[in-house]
Amino acid sequence: MIIPIPLGPVSFAPEVSVIFPNSCCCNCGFKSGLSIINQDTKKTNYFLFAGTELTFQLPLTICNDCEKTLKRRVPTLFHKFLVLFVIAFTLFLLAVTVGAHSLSRFQFISNNLFIFCLFAAFLVLLAFYAIRRPSGKQTSYYHPVRLSLLERELTSGEIKSIGFGFTNAAYLRDFQKINKSAIQAGRVHAARA
Ligand SMILES: [Zn+2]
Repeated sequence: MIIPIPLGPVSFAPEVSVIFPNSCCCNCGFKSGLSIINQDTKKTNYFLFAGTELTFQLPLTICNDCEKTLKRRVPTLFHKFLVLFVIAFTLFLLAVTVGAHSLSRFQFISNNLFIFCLFAAFLVLLAFYAIRRPSGKQTSYYHPVRLSLLERELTSGEIKSIGFGFTNAAYLRDFQKINKSAIQAGRVHAARA
């Protein structure tokens, strides 16, 4: 199990100033019914079985319909594997306890039981992620703004540059416009997620 350790407050180099646009919803691009809500965006650096974790609160402009996407972190490959093995192991336990008697008639399945459970878990996981799709004009089911890059000063830990990925192209263009000087100075980076 990997344990993230929260870090204390970190400082930004003065040149790293970031402004988020408020012209449209950062997910679907709608221009009405907007509010500004903080998206808790975590950055974890793993080191063996522990890691350091930083949480940034990004003040994003969002419409009512997309508000809940700010609470959905993008699942990492690691999390998907973890869920896959938990489902497979649960199926395996069920099969050997509840289904042992009926399985004994299917020699091939009982000889390769864990592989079958892994395959079944994979199908469950595929179905699970297939229904987690953005609705309407939404560009993402998950966080519409992601942290793509973080460069820190080795000794002080001060943030030297930061990069974001955006799922909405119009919101990205607005971000690039209002953060032009910091982007040109290489302190802020912005691209499509
Ligand atoms: Zn929206």
